[in-house]
Amino acid sequence: MGLEQYRSRQLWQALYQQRVGSIEEITSLPKSVRDLLTRSGLEIGLPRITQTFLSSDGTERYLIACPDGETVETVWMPNGDDGELGDGSDAAIEEADATSKVGSSKLENSIPYRRATICISSQVGCAVNCQFCLTAKLGVKRNLTAGEIAGQVAAVLNRHQVKIGRDRINLVFMGMGEPFLNYDNFMAAVHLLVEGMGIPESRMTVSTSGILPGIERFAMEKLRPKLALSLNAPNDSIRESIMPITRKWNIEDLLAALHEVPLRPRERMTFEYVLLGGVNDRLQDARELSTLLRNSGLPCKVNLIVWNPGPDIPYRMPAPEDVGAFQQQLIASGVPAFLRRPRGRDIYAACGQLKRTVE
Ligand code: SF4
Repeated sequence: MGLEQYRSRQLWQALYQQRVGSIEEITSLPKSVRDLLTRSGLEIGLPRITQTFLSSDGTERYLIACPDGETVETVWMPNGDDGELGDGSDAAIEEADATSKVGSSKLENSIPYRRATICISSQVGCAVNCQFCLTAKLGVKRNLTAGEIAGQVAAVLNRHQVKIGRDRINLVFMGMGEPFLNYDNFMAAVHLLVEGMGIPESRMTVSTSGILPGIERFAMEKLRPKLALSLNAPNDSIRESIMPITRKWNIEDLLAALHEVPLRPRERMTFEYVLLGGVNDRLQDARELSTLLRNSGLPCKVNLIVWNPGPDIPYRMPAPEDVGAFQQQLIASGVPAFLRRPRGRDIYAACGQLKRTVE
């Protein structure tokens, strides 16, 4: 357009640091430049939060509209779900929490937070078909663009008036969809979030159901979030029954691929484990799991997630005493194990419950 080069930097800062919703809001650009951008047909905007569901625990679930009318879900968890704990690279978290300022979005019903976690979607629906997950029922409609993925974060940060640098924000790519089946857009979004919005990649975690080629590509990335494998079983036969994708890439191959992912100092590989009553929550499963992980030689931790019920999903929640025994068995075997707090279960915002439920 014949504009000075620094105008592009101003535009970039307006989009990702000030998180503006229209060209008119970019006051760092003179009106003549704003008019030029508008006349050229450029449009900018943030994803629109069309519905908000508030949980009694402070969690908020949002239905977010894409320009083509599709909707995805994003979740705001004030004070996280404890899934961040236990990783050496986050060792300062409690200390920082004790001294950090308490943020508040000034919204009615919003609770103060010392740190907040945003759970982001990467696809409309999901093709992976994990048997315990409501999102799987949607099938996959389409990939989200990098802008739509990063835009979810911008929309939620604006809603809560979050200032990056002042407020502590963690991101988890664990919403609707399998990020490694939308790899290029997912990684482009990571770059926008790190280089544009200023959120460190060490505060981001991506969870995969075990897409082997995706793990291999991820291992080569210079800039990358932390990685979690959604394992959910101590052996292939149980895993196949709840995650059919295991037939394509088995546990042994996945563990071998994880070895190629370089870890930061003190970082551990995270294994997510959804406990399904009577399916994978027995003591013998915990023993087998700890042997599997110890033999893998990977520095690791396990995040235990009590399965969250959903309509037409043929599982039951594990008994509280079985959850405790499972965790203790892992810890006694030398495998760090943490129990994630279910967040927003009453509003279908918890793990595996994202299905655009509006009833
Ligand atoms: S658990 Fe994740 S990967 Fe599996 S079906 Fe649900 S959204 Fe997809």
